[in-house]
Amino acid sequence: MAAPSRLLIRGGRVVNDDLSQVADVLVEDGVVRALGRDLLPPGGAPAGLRVLDAAGKLVLPGGIDTHTHMQFPFMGARSVDDFHQGTKAALAGGTTMIIDFAIPQKGSSLIKAFETWRSWADPKVCCDYSLHVAVTWWSDQVKEEMKILTQDKGVNSFKMFMAYKDLYMVRDEELYAAFSQCKEIGAIAQVHAENGDLIAEGAKKMLALGITGPEGHELCRPEAVEAEATLRAITIASAVNCPLYIVHVMSKSAAKVIADARRDGKVVYGEPIAASLGTDGTHYWHKDWHHAAHHVMGPPLRPDPSTPDFLMNLLANGDLTTTGTDHCTFNTCQKALGKDDFTKIPNGVNGVEDRMSVIWEKGVHSGKMDENRFVAVTSTNAAKVFNLYPRKGRIAVGSDADIVIWDPKATRTISARTHHQAVNFNIFEGMVCHGVPLVTISRGKVVYEAGVLSVTAGDGKFIPRKPFAEYIYKRIKQRDQTCTPTPVEREPYKGEVVTLKTRETKEDAAAGTRKQAHP
Ligand SMILES: [Zn+2]
Repeated sequence: MAAPSRLLIRGGRVVNDDLSQVADVLVEDGVVRALGRDLLPPGGAPAGLRVLDAAGKLVLPGGIDTHTHMQFPFMGARSVDDFHQGTKAALAGGTTMIIDFAIPQKGSSLIKAFETWRSWADPKVCCDYSLHVAVTWWSDQVKEEMKILTQDKGVNSFKMFMAYKDLYMVRDEELYAAFSQCKEIGAIAQVHAENGDLIAEGAKKMLALGITGPEGHELCRPEAVEAEATLRAITIASAVNCPLYIVHVMSKSAAKVIADARRDGKVVYGEPIAASLGTDGTHYWHKDWHHAAHHVMGPPLRPDPSTPDFLMNLLANGDLTTTGTDHCTFNTCQKALGKDDFTKIPNGVNGVEDRMSVIWEKGVHSGKMDENRFVAVTSTNAAKVFNLYPRKGRIAVGSDADIVIWDPKATRTISARTHHQAVNFNIFEGMVCHGVPLVTISRGKVVYEAGVLSVTAGDGKFIPRKPFAEYIYKRIKQRDQTCTPTPVEREPYKGEVVTLKTRETKEDAAAGTRKQAHP
């Protein structure tokens, strides 16, 4: 390797979720070796040690995007950011790890889907990544494969869709079975929470009314459809004492359901995304069809313009926990598959490059959260929930050297013309953001600096995740020990038992004189 394997990040303010301190960070062989004052040896840097001056800047754990769909074959198209371009864009935005989704078709093997996604990602990724696996149908085979994925393949999170009827949607009894198995194997259950039956009916209704444009996408699946499914998922997970993670929280009402459940003591986590925190659904009524269509995703952005602020407040105060992007990008010509029918517009928006800056701008610059909470919601909490902590999500001796040197005062303007994402549109177009990544370090290597990427496809690695993450399972295990209901000991009933005769004669039925036990 030509690049120096040792880096010294000097004089920056090192920010973890619990503490900020001015310190030098020494990086060697991809990990943090030392953290402290004045680590530079007297006499200057020895050969092979590169010194990066971070005075006046913040030194943050690299972002973890909990939710992406790179090169995802979906709705007759394939998302244009592949694992190469998508992870490059991530690094340019200060994100050093993504968690994508392996999604099998109904009736197909989960393990095969997992291996397929690995084969797409491994040769292309420029930063570390991991995979959630979707459960899109139920059988003994699925149950067994979930166990194998958890024990042997490094998967500890499974996502169930309550929407996309006939494609990915599972019913309540399947959710119950899948949640039970998650609990058994120490995984966290994730849900796309929307009522798929109501969406299907709503879509028919909109099309019958002649509403074929992108606004129909939101009108057929209003907030209540998301809030109902969120509550239903929480109720089912609670019934089996399984930890639950709600992906892409898009509405105020769904966020309130999660906040209430947490106050009731439920082990549930909510993930708003860059889109729901940074923009809103008024764009579905935009005069340009392509502008509106580029905002189509499920669940939709909400037309209530107070939604982003509301979600950011909940993220700041702990009601919501992590942030992803649901990065799943389609170019205008792909979105045009639905030019005459909004149900055929491929669902998905950008965000993997934009998330950190959007959250800094709307969260930290606005005064809603401090730099430590920013690190928590962009990195640390994800590492804890998905059992990567403290290898990821923290700058400490022994942690992976996934680090961003961040300038909180600099600004940049987000635009499709300058972003690194492959897609030809950006839902945050024109947004001026404070908070700019100056240098991104992935696995101990400088991969982005002064606006220039220097990456190699395949340099990122698949990061396996162990089951029973302590952050979520300590409480679950304790509850199982102390809260399991036991049968009451009571005197058996010793009296008479009378059987009610309800047999119906042919004559009774013919005469319509059925006798009812309860009139
Ligand atoms: Zn998604």
